[in-house]
Amino acid sequence: MVTIEEALLIIQDQKISLKSELKPLEEALGFALATDTIAPFDVPEFDNSAMDGYALCGLYQEYRLVGEVAAGDSKEIELKDGEAVRIFTGAKAPENATAVMMQEKTSVKEKVLFLDEMPRVGQNIRKKGGQLNEGQTVFEKGHLLNPPSLSLMGSLGLEALEVISKPTINIITTGNELVNPGQPKAEGQIYESNSYAISGALQQFGFRYHQKTQIKDDFEATKAGIKKALESCDVLIISGGISVGDYDFVKQSLEENGVNELFYKVLQKPGKPLYFGRKENQFVFALPGNPASSLTCFYVYVLPLLQRLSGYEKTGLTTYQFPIKHPFKNTFGRPSFLKAAVMDGKVEILDGQGSSMIQSMAKGNALAFVDDGEILNEGDLVKCRLIS
Ligand code: AMP
Ligand code: MG
Repeated sequence: MVTIEEALLIIQDQKISLKSELKPLEEALGFALATDTIAPFDVPEFDNSAMDGYALCGLYQEYRLVGEVAAGDSKEIELKDGEAVRIFTGAKAPENATAVMMQEKTSVKEKVLFLDEMPRVGQNIRKKGGQLNEGQTVFEKGHLLNPPSLSLMGSLGLEALEVISKPTINIITTGNELVNPGQPKAEGQIYESNSYAISGALQQFGFRYHQKTQIKDDFEATKAGIKKALESCDVLIISGGISVGDYDFVKQSLEENGVNELFYKVLQKPGKPLYFGRKENQFVFALPGNPASSLTCFYVYVLPLLQRLSGYEKTGLTTYQFPIKHPFKNTFGRPSFLKAAVMDGKVEILDGQGSSMIQSMAKGNALAFVDDGEILNEGDLVKCRLIS
C-alpha cells in the first residue's frame, strides 16, 4: 500500500521517451510542439489599417482624396502631404501614411475629406512586426497547441507542425456480470458502463482509445486478453478484477505477461485497489471496477501520465482551493476524493459518496480532497480538482 503522494510520485518519476510526428494544422489541437518555432517573417508583415476609414498624410482636418486601397491590394500608393486615400481594415497602409481616421469620424464632399477631430501620429495603423519579428522564437518546444496557437501558426503560413505523438491506449473491461448497453440482460447481470466513462474522459482531454476488449472473469481469458492488448498499445487501462475476490485475475495475469508492479493499493477512498505497472515502455493501470473508483483513479493517476507521454509540461487536473459551503468531517477512514459541486466560488460535498455511485459524480463537477479525519468548518478552504 502506498499513499496518494507516493503513487503520484512513482508515476511522475517514470523515465519515458517521446516520439514525434508531423500533424496537419487542422489536427494539431491539444498536441505539444516537438520543436521550437521561429517566425519566418514579421507579423504583421506590413503596416496595415486597423479600421475602415482613410489613410492620411500629415496632420490636418481636411485632405484631398486621391484613391482607394482594399485588403489584399498590393499596389504601392505614395501619398503627398495633405492627401488621403480610402482604406479598409487589413489593407496595406501607404508608405508615408501618418495615421488612419475611422470612417465614422469623417465626411466627404467633392473629393475633399473632412475629419471631425484632429488625427494623431500612428493612429489606427498596425505596425509591421507589431506582434512578432522575423527570427524571433514564437513558441518553445513543449508548447501546448490551443486554438489561438493554431491561429498564430496558420498566420505564419505553416500547414503542418512537428508535434509529440500521443500514446496509443487500449481498454480492457473485466467481469462475468457485464453486458453491453443495448443487449438483453439476464438476472444478476449489469450493463458495462466504465468504458464509456473512461472513453469520455479520454476524449475530454484530447485522447482516444485504440482498442476496447471485454473479458470474462477467467484466468486464461484474462491472461490472453492482456497479452493481445499489449501487442498494440503504449498504455493499457483495465477496469475491474484487481481486488482480492476469488474472481479477480488481473494482477496475476499481468505478472504472467511480464508486467512489473510499480504499486498496488493506494491509501485513498475511492479507488484503494489501484494497480500501476510497467513492461519496458508500456504502462498498465488496473482500475478498481466500481464506477466512481475507476473514473476518479483515471482523473487523478492515469491522466497525468497520458499527458506526460504526450509531452505536456503541466499535467493532471488543475487544483483550485474553494471555501466549503457547509461543515464537513471525513469519517471514511482514508484520505478521500469526494464528489463535489463547485458553484459561485464555493464547494459543496455531495450526497452519494459510495464507490459505486456515479450519479453524484455526474451531477457535480469536482473532486474535493479531504484528508482522513479532517474536520472542516463552513468557509474553510478545500482543494478541488475540476473535472468538468
Ligand atoms: P471489481 O473491481 O471487478 O470487483 O468490480 C467492483 C464493482 O464494480 C462490481 O460491482 C462490478 O459489477 C462493478 N463493475 C466492474 N466493472 C464494471 C464496468 N465495466 N461497468 C460497470 N460496473 C462495473
Ligand atoms: Mg469484477
